Parts: sequence; structure tokens; C-alpha cells
Amino acid sequence: VKTIAIEEHYYSQEYLDYLRSRKDYPRVEVAGDGSEWMSLMPPDFKSFHPTGVQNRLLDVGEARLKDMDENGIDMQVLSLSTPGVEAFDAAEGTAMAIKTNDYLAGIVKKHPDRFAGYAAIAPQDPEAAAVELERAVTELGLKGANINSHIRGEYLDNQKYWPIFEKAEKLGVPIYLHPRHPAPDMVRPYLPYRELAFPLWGFGADTGLHAMCLICSGVFDKYPGLKIILGHLGEALPFWMNRMDEKWKPMKAAELTPEPFARKLNKIPGQYIKDNFMITTSAMYWQPLLQFVHSVIGADRLLFAVDYPYETNQGAVQAVEAMPIDNTDKEKIFHLNAEKLLKL
Ligand code: CA
Repeated sequence: VKTIAIEEHYYSQEYLDYLRSRKDYPRVEVAGDGSEWMSLMPPDFKSFHPTGVQNRLLDVGEARLKDMDENGIDMQVLSLSTPGVEAFDAAEGTAMAIKTNDYLAGIVKKHPDRFAGYAAIAPQDPEAAAVELERAVTELGLKGANINSHIRGEYLDNQKYWPIFEKAEKLGVPIYLHPRHPAPDMVRPYLPYRELAFPLWGFGADTGLHAMCLICSGVFDKYPGLKIILGHLGEALPFWMNRMDEKWKPMKAAELTPEPFARKLNKIPGQYIKDNFMITTSAMYWQPLLQFVHSVIGADRLLFAVDYPYETNQGAVQAVEAMPIDNTDKEKIFHLNAEKLLKL
């Protein structure tokens, strides 16, 4: 079976050098209102990722391709790994997005049958981000954009960011809403348990909430063609979907004051999840969960991803291969859905 993995990460050397050169980051981040807050990031990028992970992020050649070959992965769709460009000030974020997108386009050009890519964009300047998304798609051939959850503490339900969604819908490309550690307003309960803010809980909790805020904002009524990709089997949305729908319906019907936001929306959450979200298997190998999400979301919205180099190609491939589903569905998950969504 042809296999396309769609949440795979890289660093350029220039980007990594830039991160290391910044004395004010990652220890302190500036929230949208200008306030400063202590980041949960480690004190320097030597400890941000183990050296082995950094080297695998930097390698977009021989070693990576060998690992893909050994595990039957035909193509990776690459995105700049966290922290991305979202936490920098607008001008720096925009400039770094342009540089890394040019670099990524070069990788894809060198191995067009093995790599595709998502643009990095800096929503801190929404108009510039929309312009860069268009350039990346129409001039560089990238397949959408990757956004690392909150923008200096703000979620994309804030309408000032919607020029990005308008552009994505117009171009017919998806936005990958990728996790990072929780926004400043959410971070306090994690402080005594620092590691809890990362993949243990914080990544999924933050990105799941972010996705729900998008649904509640009405962005999908305004841009019904917009597609958001969620990794990690949907950041818990499929788990809550039925309960949300059941609690949502009476909100739409009852006479309540103040008027519930739900009444302004065209659909119930589960319908938006099915119409506007695509869900990947990244970093999730657990059979009960894979099968649950397959059963409630369906094979047409489930896509294969590894989360390389944080997870192994081998483990991810074996997990989906082991699912007790027919080959038609496996073909959709492993490559057909990605080819359609990303126009590969
Ligand atoms: Ca990832």
C-alpha cells in the first residue's frame, strides 16, 4: 500500500541557529496584550530537544529517506517543527516564515516524489500571513499551512485572524492546527507539574480547546469550505462529540437569556467536525483508540501520520496496518485521503 505521512517535521539550520541566538526566547514569551509570561520551555535549545532529535529534524536527505524506505513510507508532508514562527514579533515571524518556506520548497524540488510541505506562516500579522500562504501555495507549490496552536496566547477564533482562513478556503488548501504548550491564560495549573504541559496532557488540551473555539466562533459558517487538520486522533474531539451534540441541541431550542452562542450557528459540533476537520493518526498507536476514531469519524476523514522524528515510522505504520478494517479503508487512510486533500 502506498503510504503518505502528513505530520512530519523538520528544522532548517538557519532556523535552529536563529532560535539559539535569541536570548529572550524561549524563557519569556510576550502575550497578545503585551504582557510577558514565563515560558515552560527549557532554558536553551540544547535541552529543548535531545541532540538526536535535532539531528533528525535537520536531516532531510539520506538518513530520513532510508528510514522511510525501511518502513514503507513513500512520502512525508513536512512542516517546520515547534516552536515555529508564531511566538516571535510580527516582522521577525513573517521574515522567518518566508525563509523557511523557500528552504522547504527547495527540499521538495530535490525529491518531489518523496516530500511535500506545509508553509509556515506568522498569524501575528494576519494580512502578511495570508499573502505568504498564497505565495507558498501558488509559487512554491506547498500544500497548505501549519500553525502551532495559539498566537502569543490568542486563538484563531479571533476574527482578526480570519483573512488567513479566507485565503485558505479560496486556495482550497487546509490548515494543520498543530499543538504546542498551553497559552498563557491556561498555563497556571501546569506550573507545579511542568511536563504535564507537553504531550502528557497540555498539547492535546490546548489544541482541542482551540479547535472547539473555532467551531463556536462561526468561522465554518462563514468559510464552509475551510479544512482544518487535527493530529493525535483529533485532540479528543471525537471522544466528546456525542456529548457535545446532545448538550448543544437543547441550547438551540430553549428560551434562554442571554441567548446561547450555539443558536447563531448553522450546525451542531459533530457536523462541523465531520464537514471541516480531517484527523490524523499522528503519535497514536493504541488500537482501541484508532478503532474508536475510525468508527465515529469514518475512513474518509482519517489520515495517516507519524509525527517524525518524535515518533517512529515503524510504530506508526504497524499500528494502522494492525487495524481490523478492510483494505479499502486502509488505502484511504494510508494515501487516498491525503492525495485528495493535499492534491498530491
Ligand atoms: Ca507533531
